[in-house]
Amino acid sequence: MIRKKKPIANGNDKIQFKRLKTEIEAADAIVIGGGAGLSASAGFTYQGQRFQKHFREFEKKYGFHDMYSGGFYPYQTAEEYWAYWSRYIQINRYENATTLVYGMLLNLVKGKDYFVITTNVDHCFQKAGFDKKRLFYMQGDYGLFQCSKPCCQKTYDNKKWIDRMVEEQINMRIPTELIPKCPVCGRPMTMNLRTDDRFVEDAGWHHAALRYYDFIQRHKGLRILFLELGVGYNTPGIIKYSFWKMTAENPNAMYACINDGEAVYPQEIESQSICIDGDIGKILEEIDGRLTCNGCSDDGREKNDKARKAYQVKSIAS
Ligand SMILES: [Zn+2]
Repeated sequence: MIRKKKPIANGNDKIQFKRLKTEIEAADAIVIGGGAGLSASAGFTYQGQRFQKHFREFEKKYGFHDMYSGGFYPYQTAEEYWAYWSRYIQINRYENATTLVYGMLLNLVKGKDYFVITTNVDHCFQKAGFDKKRLFYMQGDYGLFQCSKPCCQKTYDNKKWIDRMVEEQINMRIPTELIPKCPVCGRPMTMNLRTDDRFVEDAGWHHAALRYYDFIQRHKGLRILFLELGVGYNTPGIIKYSFWKMTAENPNAMYACINDGEAVYPQEIESQSICIDGDIGKILEEIDGRLTCNGCSDDGREKNDKARKAYQVKSIAS
């Protein structure tokens, strides 16, 4: 029903940056939709150098060439499976982002009435200091385990388990006694990720869902900005299509999309759309005039990391 359109701006379009900044300032409320592209901009890439650094010997043994494929590999034993996944979770959930894109985003919306819905399961919003009560991680969290059946709607923080599995694995196998088991029924544990209908929606998930839908209800008809960042087409119904629909239903709403390669809007909401094609971190730097654009180049980015980090910490603390 909705036709897609070509992006209306590239990463250098100052007019669109200005429009977006104006909308952020003028909005009564902002709903941020965070997808995989946002974490990619934060340095969480799943192939290339980063894959090589952490999974070189897995590549040699199993023949996959990126972390995503490694997650689907049919490991013969639980010991091998958890050797892979514990490393994966440790670097993608417990390590910090290498760029400050989440911090910059927080600076942009700080003081505004905002809410975040995300399909990311890497905890980056929380690590950057976003208010937990304004977040809905609807697809789960790498940092939680659940029963594989599941026998009950409970989740468990997995940091201690993961750390031990990483530390004690030898030749890409964890010791058998470290295979995580459900404390209630003894079945194997699995990650709390929505991969099928066994996904556990625990109490925290339900509270977050309620807060999100309540936020949407309370701001119906108001000047609301739907800010979509790095959302692809794996599960477009959750954020993208729902943002398009809510924008179409509310003449006071605006839809903004920043995406590296897939920044599009449907024709039906053309006059309410701002689309910018490019790296989210670089574009946020442009929009937030307080941050210099020196960090836009890869060389400059490194040099400016320190300065920007200090800026970010100061901003979050204030
Ligand atoms: Zn169980």
